[in-house]
Amino acid sequence: MTSTTRVVVVGGGYAGVLAANRLSQRTDIDITLINPRPQFVERIRLHQLVAGNDDAVEDYSAILTDRAKLVVDTAQRIDADAKVLRLASGTTLDYDYLIYAVGSTASVPISVPGAVEFAYPLGELEAAQRLTARMADTALQAPIVVVGGGLTGIEAASEFGEAGRSVTLVTGALGPSLAKGGRRSVAKRLKKLGVTVVENATVTQVQADSITLGDGTALPSSVTVWTAGFAVPTLASDSGLSTDRLGRLLTDETLTSVDHRSIIAAGDSASPSAQPLRMSCQLAMPLASHAADTLLARLDGKEPKNLNPASVGQCISLGRHAGTIQMSHFNDQALPMHIGGNLAASIKESVCKGTLSFLAKEARKPGSYFWPQGGKRQKNLTKTPV
Ligand SMILES: Cc1cc2nc3c(=O)[nH]c(=O)nc-3n(C[C@H](O)[C@H](O)[C@H](O)COP(=O)(O)OP(=O)(O)OC[C@H]3O[C@@H](n4cnc5c(N)ncnc54)[C@H](O)[C@@H]3O)c2cc1C
Repeated sequence: MTSTTRVVVVGGGYAGVLAANRLSQRTDIDITLINPRPQFVERIRLHQLVAGNDDAVEDYSAILTDRAKLVVDTAQRIDADAKVLRLASGTTLDYDYLIYAVGSTASVPISVPGAVEFAYPLGELEAAQRLTARMADTALQAPIVVVGGGLTGIEAASEFGEAGRSVTLVTGALGPSLAKGGRRSVAKRLKKLGVTVVENATVTQVQADSITLGDGTALPSSVTVWTAGFAVPTLASDSGLSTDRLGRLLTDETLTSVDHRSIIAAGDSASPSAQPLRMSCQLAMPLASHAADTLLARLDGKEPKNLNPASVGQCISLGRHAGTIQMSHFNDQALPMHIGGNLAASIKESVCKGTLSFLAKEARKPGSYFWPQGGKRQKNLTKTPV
């Protein structure tokens, strides 16, 4: 090993940037961040990009430590035995440690006829840009169907409703992760924004100008937005590493890959003990700071600690003027407490801004990021890493 430790961070999202910044507290670490785009994507604002009230990107110069070298490329394969990362450009990078932070993607099911051809996902920048262009070509009064009543579907439907669109939200259940009161507050706001909610429904087919439900009902839809379901990049499984069912990198409770001690995961693409935390920006950042601390502990010859981040709630924007803040137990279970209305919208906006501030602060003062602990994870290691 050279006197400098070479760390490659794969993925420049919330987790990758925070981990890279935190690692910069040691001057003997050489940090390289790989990301397919030269700009940071604020995924939590992609629905706003489509609605036309935010660009959902930030310059890395504002949030990434200048100690990290940004390489705009895509990782294609991790050769974990040789500790070599292969990039799409053909370049290879040797590493001592690799932080796996490739995040998540939106998925459109191939099992629903027409979904891949006609539905628009929203989970990534390029997908959101395609949807933005499609919306721009679609008359304001044309029917829009949002499929999926999770937080992304709710936020998207609200934003489009507020922009004067005629929106129907089709879902099995509205806001299943919310408590009764939080769900009621969301439903009330959606109604006010003119969004029709169709619950207990399954989409069985998507056509160019309509969707069909399980009971045979056809709903007109000039643009079908698919928000139901997250997937993850296949880099870990393509590289022969152990993953969970969805393809997240399987780790122990220190976030170390169960296969290789030199690979540490963070964010949506991590699956500690195959009991992953909720895919969220909120938890991606504490996971990233933990991943960096695991690596730093190893360099110091110490035992890394087990993961235990607390959840604090779910912040949902309902257009620009209202929101719902669903409080939760530290273990992410919804509490019967929420904040609604304009106050919730302001809190949500501060959270979005705060996210970038946290990243920027960790770049300026590495090691300063702090997140409450107490999520009560006490899982067993699934396998001993080599
Ligand atoms: C519309 C929308 C709204 C959301 N709102 C909220 C919210 O309000 N609150 C909340 O907590 N969460 C929210 N989320 C979820 C949140 O965005 C994600 O959980 C979060 O982005 C995860 O952070 P991450 O760093 O793990 O991954 P990401 O932010 O997805 O970053 C991963 C990065 O890795 C890159 N990458 C992928 N594969 C490779 C590769 N092979 N090589 C190199 N780079 C690669 C990706 O391009 C990306 O830049 C929302 C998501 C969406 C889509």
